[in-house]
Amino acid sequence: MELEIKNLLKQQGFSATKTRMAVLGAILKMQPASMQQLISALPDVDRATVYRTVDLFVELNIAKKVHTGFKYRVELSDSFQEHHHHLTCLRCGTVLDVHTPEIEYAIDQTASSNGFRPVRHDLEIIGYCAQCS
Ligand SMILES: [Zn+2]
Ligand SMILES: [Zn+2]
Repeated sequence: MELEIKNLLKQQGFSATKTRMAVLGAILKMQPASMQQLISALPDVDRATVYRTVDLFVELNIAKKVHTGFKYRVELSDSFQEHHHHLTCLRCGTVLDVHTPEIEYAIDQTASSNGFRPVRHDLEIIGYCAQCS
């Protein structure tokens, strides 16, 4: 995975610097990771650089932002991991990855029955996890 992304960076004309690879490593370890989590996991990288690197990854479609309200978390894009959605707990902040083929099917049907070709969609489920409810 890291090697694949390293090559993609180079193909796009960006060098795979130590800092970029450190940010990538932190994303891989904690995804979906909040910016706060990434910043505290990377004490040697300044805040602005973490933000800039995440934005670069998003621009190159290496990573994507998962929005929940005003905040977002960062994870690898659908090109590098299987497409899925999240259940996010309002109390403890736990985020669960969920794969639901029925949802994907319904979204495709909704689009195609309107003559629409879907490119992407976001669907975040917010509530309380089993421990918190
Ligand atoms: Zn995820
Ligand atoms: Zn989906």
